[in-house]
Amino acid sequence: MQYDKNNVFYKIINRELNANIILEGEHFLAFHDIAPKAPVHVLVIPKGCYVDYYDFVLNASDTEILDFCRGTAEIIKMMKIEKPGFKLVANAGKFSMNDEKGQEVMHFHFHILGKPLDDND
Ligand code: 5GP
Repeated sequence: MQYDKNNVFYKIINRELNANIILEGEHFLAFHDIAPKAPVHVLVIPKGCYVDYYDFVLNASDTEILDFCRGTAEIIKMMKIEKPGFKLVANAGKFSMNDEKGQEVMHFHFHILGKPLDDND
């Protein structure tokens, strides 16, 4: 699928749309999902124009991929979810399970979902 710049994440990268940004690297941006489905729900996106995981891994440079992957790990640490565990989701295309929708925003992103430890854990 051809990348279409008319998507919300492209606008967030270019600061035409606001987002609650947590961390920015040379090649990635991480921000809170506007409609969180877990206590921690962060989206990590590459700054380059890639439609989905497949497009990203096949076409991005090693530097972009490394920066994106390390950025994702950094968010997991910042959100304190590395010990209790987390879910990493990347939708691609129309495929869906359990009545969830498929990919809605056609700019590659990881969903990081989790719940930090609290004092009782
Ligand atoms: P997808 O279904 O494409 O994997 O997930 C897209 C995600 O982007 C959804 O979880 C949705 O809530 C989130 N989202 C859509 N529009 C915006 C927006 O303008 N700002 C932020 N922060 N998240 C958005």
